[in-house]
Amino acid sequence: MQRLALCLALLLICGAVSAEQIKPPVKAATKPPAAATKKTAAKPAPKKGPPAKMLFGAVSAPAPLAARAIGSYARGCLAGGVSLPINGPDWQVMRLSRNRNWGTPQLLDYLERLASDARARDGWPGLLVGDMAQPRGGPMITGHSSHQIGLDADVWLTPMPDRILTPQEREDISATSMLKDPLTVDQAIWTPLHTKLIKRAASYPQVSRIFVHPAIKKVLCQQAGKDRAWLGKVRPWWGHFYHFHIRLKCPPDMAGCENQKPPSGDDGCGTELANWFTMLRKAELAAASRPAVPGAKPAPKKPPLSLGDLPKECMTVLSAGGGMPTIAPDGTVPAALKAEAGKDAGPPAPHLDPEALAALKASMSKSKPGAKATAAAKPADASASAAALPAQPASTGGPAVTAAQPASTVGPASPSDSVPLPDRKPQ
Ligand SMILES: [Zn+2]
Repeated sequence: MQRLALCLALLLICGAVSAEQIKPPVKAATKPPAAATKKTAAKPAPKKGPPAKMLFGAVSAPAPLAARAIGSYARGCLAGGVSLPINGPDWQVMRLSRNRNWGTPQLLDYLERLASDARARDGWPGLLVGDMAQPRGGPMITGHSSHQIGLDADVWLTPMPDRILTPQEREDISATSMLKDPLTVDQAIWTPLHTKLIKRAASYPQVSRIFVHPAIKKVLCQQAGKDRAWLGKVRPWWGHFYHFHIRLKCPPDMAGCENQKPPSGDDGCGTELANWFTMLRKAELAAASRPAVPGAKPAPKKPPLSLGDLPKECMTVLSAGGGMPTIAPDGTVPAALKAEAGKDAGPPAPHLDPEALAALKASMSKSKPGAKATAAAKPADASASAAALPAQPASTGGPAVTAAQPASTVGPASPSDSVPLPDRKPQ
């Protein structure tokens, strides 16, 4: 009874602020209007419950309900989640301490099939599986804005070793970056097997999208040959240079599961990819200019999703079977805070060396004097998630993200107005 009262109180508190947070407009560089800020400052700040990520991050067991993906990839939860066994014939789960190897039964079926097919038909030695979803899905304390409904999974681009890794190794081993520099795949590391693996992953009809770093997409475009239908599902996104991200469509007849619009149809190797490279270059220039701005403010953070921002049924998912986490008197969720520290799955994103940076600066100022290309270069998948949190590009897909990484605090707003920054949400 007490629990129910707590649930209802939370819902009321969170519901009150949720209206402001629905579908924030995605902008490349947003300055908070001074007048608006003053207005809201005059009102007493609405009382908020703990962010939904703390509540979902603190629950260690699935909701004992029928399996269902509820809501959308970046705003939802998972009922009846099932966990991928940590060792399979062709896969191993990494970063076990994160407890994020949960999903819908359909996601598990898919991963087992992919692992088996990739090994038997392509010779990929096995999958190292990174983050899927939390036991009850929902927002995560670290690393992702999606992965909320049990239909997303990160798979490392590092082949599985031919032995069972110890739990400690699964915490400590770093995934391998495929990049030589921010714009280029390292051809000494990338192999034809990598191309085959991603082609295989994209080839199943239940796949909605695969996310990879733009430089990886470029290589795939070059190596695809005549069979290019699968390429349309492979979408460029920040951070995916040591893993790729698989997103399944909503399983047929799953009520309350919200699909993403299908990709546009072409192979994405033309203008869209060129726009991504423009954004990569701008991001490099912005990253290089950042330390030179004294007292630069970090990008303003969007408020985290609260329970009231998620579909109503997510309250049932959270509380089912006594799963409601303990909330401390100060409003925090101790179990979630404990889980916050963790090791990133891969190396930080590389940056250009000074010489290459100087060359880039010269070429950018020559090609587009005073150009405002941000809008044109907006990623086609920008609407993919409504939760536009400032991204941490080095750690987008990793099971863990260190809370304060100076190199990764690139947000929608830049300290330097001269370089419009692209939107950098994690996936
Ligand atoms: Zn991911």
